[in-house]
Amino acid sequence: MCPRPSQTLPAASAPPRGDAWVLTWDGFDPDREGLLEALCALGNGHFVTRGAAEEAHADDVHYPGTYVAGGYNRLTSEVAGRTVVNEDLVNFPNWLPLTFRPEDGEWVDLGKVEIVSWRQELHLREGLLLRAFRFRDRDGRETSVEARRLVSMAYPHLAAIDYRITPENWSGGLRIRSGIDGSVRNTGVARYRQLANRHLQVVAQGRIAPEGVYLVARASQSRFEVGLAARACLFRGGEPFDVHRHILDEEEGSIGEELHVDAGRGETIRVEKTVALFASNDRGIGEPGMEARHAVRTAGSFEELLLAHERAWGELWRRYDVEIGDERSREALAREQMTLRLYIFQTLQTVSPHTVALDVGAPARGLHGEAYRGHVFWDQLFVLPFYNLRQPSITRALLLYRYYRLDSARQLAREAGFEGAMYPWQSSHDGREATQELHLNPVSGQWGPDWSHLQRHVDAAIVYNTWRYWQASGDREFLRDFGAEMVLEIARFWSSLATWNGERERWEILGVMGPDEYHEKYPEAETGGLRNNAYTNVIAAWCLLRALDVLDEVGASGRARLLAKLEISDEELERWADIADRMFVPFVDGGVLEQFEGYDDLEPFDWEGYRERYGDIERLDRILKAEGDTPDRYQVSKQADAMMLFYLFDPDPLSKLLGRMGYGFGPEAMARTLDYYRSRTSHGSTLSKLVFASLMHHVDRDEGYRLFLDALRSDIEDVQGGTTQEGIHLGLMAGTVGIVLRRYAGVELHREGVILEPSLPSALRRIACRVCWRGRWLDVELTLECLRVSVDNDRPEPVPVRIEGTWREVPSGGTVELSM
Ligand code: BGC
Repeated sequence: MCPRPSQTLPAASAPPRGDAWVLTWDGFDPDREGLLEALCALGNGHFVTRGAAEEAHADDVHYPGTYVAGGYNRLTSEVAGRTVVNEDLVNFPNWLPLTFRPEDGEWVDLGKVEIVSWRQELHLREGLLLRAFRFRDRDGRETSVEARRLVSMAYPHLAAIDYRITPENWSGGLRIRSGIDGSVRNTGVARYRQLANRHLQVVAQGRIAPEGVYLVARASQSRFEVGLAARACLFRGGEPFDVHRHILDEEEGSIGEELHVDAGRGETIRVEKTVALFASNDRGIGEPGMEARHAVRTAGSFEELLLAHERAWGELWRRYDVEIGDERSREALAREQMTLRLYIFQTLQTVSPHTVALDVGAPARGLHGEAYRGHVFWDQLFVLPFYNLRQPSITRALLLYRYYRLDSARQLAREAGFEGAMYPWQSSHDGREATQELHLNPVSGQWGPDWSHLQRHVDAAIVYNTWRYWQASGDREFLRDFGAEMVLEIARFWSSLATWNGERERWEILGVMGPDEYHEKYPEAETGGLRNNAYTNVIAAWCLLRALDVLDEVGASGRARLLAKLEISDEELERWADIADRMFVPFVDGGVLEQFEGYDDLEPFDWEGYRERYGDIERLDRILKAEGDTPDRYQVSKQADAMMLFYLFDPDPLSKLLGRMGYGFGPEAMARTLDYYRSRTSHGSTLSKLVFASLMHHVDRDEGYRLFLDALRSDIEDVQGGTTQEGIHLGLMAGTVGIVLRRYAGVELHREGVILEPSLPSALRRIACRVCWRGRWLDVELTLECLRVSVDNDRPEPVPVRIEGTWREVPSGGTVELSM
């Protein structure tokens, strides 16, 4: 039964204005629509739905998409005479469809009607998407529409639309259609369109009494199943009313209901569409279709859902909001503040507290589009700290996703002739290597081999994240029961990958790729892989040392159990220590870290010439390959590679680590290394500027902040020209927030307490945020004059805080203030 509204409804669009919480776009721009669909996507960690118009279907302008966390499927395609298998994050049935027409008119088609006005607003605080537009049809009828949409953060299976239709200069019969479209395919990324894209089979569809429809769709290979149900209710003057309903299920794979209404001139007809979505990987449910039918029948009104949803978001914002203040105009500040909040918002919609109940990773492109097929990469390195600082239980869930795929990683190592666990470069459902074998260059239209799976550093990211989680949370049980095993098995993999070079008397790692994807192989080589990537070698050594530490952290019985279970001998442990101590690291003259052996011998690149010829050269690889050339030949880097070491490790520990291996590496060498790569990096990955922004902060704060602002623009302005619409860049989003928290506010969670080493860039005057250490919440406010730290009073103990090198205790419920 349709619920009665529980209270007086506020006007459909009554946004709080001008307070850096509302993003607004005026005017309908077909070229911008794809970007807005990604930026305005709504979700809750369980599923995300792009911010496409309710009236739209997939075409050249619109691409409605709904992606469910963990909902993958594998399909086989014939490409260029080869058979390739790809695993995709599936575009599940579209639950948005809601449209109308006058009795004797046409269904709303945004491409055909004359749009008189159009406004779209994303309300970050409330998690609401608003669209208000007025159009004129070819018979001169003008109609206004106001739509509010939410994907519930309170009930992760529910979504709702409040849709208001007002005939402005006409009256008469109105037909309204509401439905679920299961005929969707994965066609969101143009360059994948040659590949098989029909993942879904609709296995059931029908009507729910007294109102509503349902549909169950199953992915062809994984059998991942999603059940959706939708109920449309009508209101006039705030009062519910019912009308004749006509079920539309003659079209295979989609279902809907049509409602016939009479509308007076200037009278608003309100439709409430409530949707339930359950998936076969949900916990504590029966069959998804049945659950969805039940949930949609018992769901409250839009206003009730909105209230609970706002409460859930309120709770999240209380934990995750980061306020920044600067010295420039309010307008400039508001833009950056808003962008930062948009990134927090989209990160939380991809991975939320609801993720804890799922066995999923954090996809590099969010659950917002089909780029990179929804796969999980090393990008988690940039994402997990976001949660570590506030809700480590979420980090734990993301690490468990890796733990449950440890056997697949062991299998991958064995197949490649190694020992231990070798995690895939791209991971999806079952932990197999999901990286494609062939890569299509959209500039040349040619397929070529893809060596990117040789990026073994993904293993180091897992160890790094595990170690950081352990430091932040002190969760010894996790370390003992799950984390340690991953760390040890990865250490074993590094050890089996390392080879002894007798001439150098050093260990080496050969045949791998670093993060810089422009260098897959040596120019003349037939196969992929490079010798001694500095980042990989150093971080592999670090992993081996952490593996030895982990054995000390889990206690004598834990140590004995793990050594016995994994059959690790004393000799093996000695070998790990030896590799860590005598790893080879390449340098060029003047103590600059060499990205890999031979990088400095490659040809210098004509940056100016290419910039002149092509303008934007961030994706140099595509440009060069289209010219029949390859970036392998040049001293060009797509992204921070060796620089990652400076991003992950503070100068002192990094110097110590290299010192242990017998290499002197001080601040001067770091500065020279940074200089060297700054002039050789094209930032073809959004992760790159982020890393450089963070590093430059140490050298030149203003320049660092300029790079930070540049990185911040990446998604909101789609600086890569079309990639954001295919999915947000989650690492970039979480990573920019990370710079403010970790670099500027200088917050670090340590086993002994909270470390604060604030260092504001000159353009910022204030940062306020909250962090959680061992279940205790701390409010941190930093201004040019003062640092204020307050601790909750949830427990009587004080919280240890180290400010500028000195430990002090902040009493329970108390505040410490320090002049800066
Ligand atoms: C970057 C990788 C990243 C991947 C997914 C690529 O463009 O080069 O470092 O892991 O995108 O975000």
